[in-house]
Amino acid sequence: SDSDGGLFRVLLLGDSGVGKSSLTNIFAGIQDAHGEHSGEEIYERTLTVDGEDSTLLVMDTWGTEGDEPWVQDYCMQVGNAYIIVYSITDRASFESASELRIQLRRMRQAENIPIILVGNKSDLVRSREVSVEEGRACAVVFDCKFIETSAALHHNVKELFEGIVRQIRLRKDSK
Ligand code: GDP
Ligand code: MG
Repeated sequence: SDSDGGLFRVLLLGDSGVGKSSLTNIFAGIQDAHGEHSGEEIYERTLTVDGEDSTLLVMDTWGTEGDEPWVQDYCMQVGNAYIIVYSITDRASFESASELRIQLRRMRQAENIPIILVGNKSDLVRSREVSVEEGRACAVVFDCKFIETSAALHHNVKELFEGIVRQIRLRKDSK
């Protein structure tokens, strides 16, 4: 259609256990009450954001155990946009997010790729190790957007994927 905003590959990056697959499953509309993996890693869905359709190909292909270096390189090269996830209950995962941002910048130097930094597991208030302020400050340094989500409560997950669509459109329009 005329309003078709195109197809965009969105990669989730981040340490194991931070909630990448949980966020992806919500995007895919999968109710995963038993915590079992669906086996699929790539989902396509069309979202209507601000009255315009865009199709996202969300790829949860990062950091599965035994990943070869070429898989990581491929992930870093193939995305039109990135969601870098850490867990607010795991400071090491927050530090990994910084490393990933640096790696991404190095590999995609000339490009202004849309990135959203995500602090997931915001429902686990009593185990919080990374404050909202720290997350926000990190995103300023990264020059990217920031959002806290809870995959467990489905909080801000819709907003996350809509935000990615908006970021992609902004960068496209400014070219
Ligand atoms: P991945 O390794 O990054 O793909 O992480 P998963 O999506 O497999 O999640 C790892 C574990 O954290 C699972 O047991 C999830 O149920 C749990 N989890 C994921 N997101 C949340 C969240 O927002 N809140 C809570 N409390 N648990 C979560
Ligand atoms: Mg996973």
